[in-house]
Formats: sequence, C-alpha cells, structure tokens
Amino acid sequence: MATNKKCGKWRKRTLAVRGGEMRTPFQETSEALFMTSGYAYENAEEAEARFKGEIGGYQYSRFGNPTVSMFEERMALLEGAPVGRATATGMAAVTAVFLSALRTGDHVVAARAMFGSCLHVVEQILPRFGIGFTLVDGADTSAWEAAMKPNTRMLFLETPSNPTLSLVDIAAVAQIANKHGARLAVDNAFASPALQRPMEFGAHIVIHSSTKYIDGQGRALGGVILCHQDFLDDHLQVFIRNTGPSISPFNAWLHLKSLETLELRMKQHCENAQRVADFLSGHKKVTRALYPFSPDHPQHNLAKAQMDGGGGLVAFEVAGGKAAAFKLANALKIIDISNNLGDAKSLLTHPETTTHSKVAPEERAALGITPGMMRISVGLEDADDLCEDLDQALKVA
Ligand SMILES: *Cc1c(COP(=O)(O)O)cnc(C)c1O
Repeated sequence: MATNKKCGKWRKRTLAVRGGEMRTPFQETSEALFMTSGYAYENAEEAEARFKGEIGGYQYSRFGNPTVSMFEERMALLEGAPVGRATATGMAAVTAVFLSALRTGDHVVAARAMFGSCLHVVEQILPRFGIGFTLVDGADTSAWEAAMKPNTRMLFLETPSNPTLSLVDIAAVAQIANKHGARLAVDNAFASPALQRPMEFGAHIVIHSSTKYIDGQGRALGGVILCHQDFLDDHLQVFIRNTGPSISPFNAWLHLKSLETLELRMKQHCENAQRVADFLSGHKKVTRALYPFSPDHPQHNLAKAQMDGGGGLVAFEVAGGKAAAFKLANALKIIDISNNLGDAKSLLTHPETTTHSKVAPEERAALGITPGMMRISVGLEDADDLCEDLDQALKVA
C-alpha cells in the first residue's frame, strides 16, 4: 500500500480531501473500504513478528484496519493532533478516554453544561470505580482553578455546549490543567475541526462524535479521539485493543469520505444558522435567541477568538413556555422534531422533555434550560424556507 507522506505542507482543505490516503496497487481514486475482520500472514514467522510488534501490519480489525487508519489519520491532520483513534460512537470515545486514563482515587473536573450521556459517565459510572468529580460553571475560569485537587488528572469540557451554546475559554482551562499536571479533554462535536481546533489552544485530547457534523447526513454512528503519542501508548491503544469499542470499517469509510466536504458544509450550516438566529432574535414571540456569532451572545468575543464560525446550532426561547414550544414544534412543516444534530436536514428539539429530561430540575434551571427553550440544528436547506417555516409555526404558538 502506498501511504501519502507529502501532506506535511498541505493546507486544511487539501488535507480534508487527501490527508491519510492509502492506495492499493489498483490505484483507486476513492479510498478503499476494507470490510475484513482479520488478516493473513505469509508464514508463521511473520505472524509471530507482527504480534511481537517487530514489524508493522494489521492483525485484527479490533486493533486496526486500513480504512479506519485513513479516517484516523485524516482527522488527526485536520485537528492538528499527532495521532487519533476512531471508535464505534462518540460515547465510546468519551468513555475510552476516561476509563483508559483514570484509576481509583483520581479526580475529574468537568463543565456542568455537557451532553447528557457524558454527564452520566462522569456522575454515575466514574464514582463506581472510586473516581471523584467536581462540576463547574465552564465559563467561570476561576471556578476551574478552585475545583482543582492534588489528585485531579483530567479536565473535561464541551464548547459550544448543549443546548444553551455557552462557551468555555479553552486556552485558559488548558493553562490550569498544565499548572496542575492534568490533561484537558475537549468534546469538539458541536464545532467540528472545520470551525475549532482545541489543540491550537492547548487541549491535550480532542473527542468527537463523528455521528454529527462529520457524517453530516445522519447516516452512521462514529467517534474519534485525537491525542499525543504518549497518551496513545500509555493508555488508549491497549484499552481499545482489549475492550473493543472499535468502529466498523464501513462507518469509518463513510466518515472518511464525508471529511472531503466538511468545510463546505460547515460554511453553509453557519450561514443558514446565522440567518435563522437573526430571524428569531427579531421575532416578538421569541424572548431570547442564542448563537455564538451573534453580537448579543454573552461570550461573543470568545467565540470570535476561538472559532472560525458560529456553527449550525441555534438555541431560542419561545414566550409561553412548554405549551407554546410544543405548539411551535408540531406546526413545523420542513424542520423535523428530532434530538439528533449535525444533519443536512434541519432538526428541532425541546431539551427539557427529551435530551435533558433526566437532569434534575434545579440543575436544568442552573443550565438555563427553561420550559420554552428549543434547540435547532440548522441544516442545509434554503434559509428562506427555514425562516418561513419557523414564521408560520410561531404564528400558531
Ligand atoms: C452526540 C454527542 C455525543 C455522543 O455521541 P454519539 O455518537 O451519539 O455516541 C457526545 N458529545 C456531544 C457534544 C454530542 O453532541
């Protein structure tokens, strides 16, 4: 197989199309899909040498697969990370980072505003193994510092966060992690590497649900972990190899090919989302609209400093609480009601009764998730049609 080694000087968009490419002797232009569980050896000596790690080459697709390797390499190039490993889902990636690196007696500090299942891992699963945690208001840098303990090994955050699109200053939190000898892991699912590359701001680990913007068309689950070589060697590789959160080569192939159009799609998602945010913020039935690149977003300056675009998500609050929110959702003709995000199709969710229904009411209130709060994952349809759809639904609400 011919590996592309020239990519060191390439720019981002070239990397998205060409990075990590490995061609077979057939010289295919589209990356090959290797649907294989295992690999054969020329002789017993070769099998022995591969298992001893004396020679390279694949052994079993739970440990590695050429299609998966291409996806991992391309993701690492786009994030500016030394290495990457793909997983079956975003949650498999989050769980692998925590469980591979932490042990009994360790402590985690995490931003309170995070994806529901991530919160479950931190609050419910880690304590079962004697790993403590402190949740902080991610936007408050001094709260991160105050929560640090001598046994804090990992800091975890998501920015922009779900569903209220609050931001965390990655560089400031990375500095705190460094000062205390801990690692900062950033869940970059909402921005994608097209809009935000946390390692540029000092994050040690970047985690993705590639189910979202990387797939971009709502087809397949996947996850990626980007990290430094020592984290891979000391923790992740042996954990993935033996516990098996591995991605299917088929899903890795879909997501590899999706990276070719990621930047183009993200540009359009951002343009459409800004249009929808502007429309909503001017509407009399909307009490609040939140979009990171809108000037009235409370952390607008930070958004401009660490992101290349505001992303595809818009949060807003409709006057009249849950009843009005449900009426609005039910009246939509184009935008679907769905808790997924990052699809070409626009999707609307009511966090209080779906994604955040298991979060305690006080916690929900602290996060700013009110009964009238809705989140739209703005898709790639014509923005005029989306605004008209919202307009007619708001009349009913
Ligand atoms: C969807 C999502 C996850 C989980 O990813 P899956 O692929 O659904 O397992 C984690 N974090 C964020 C921010 C997400 O949006």
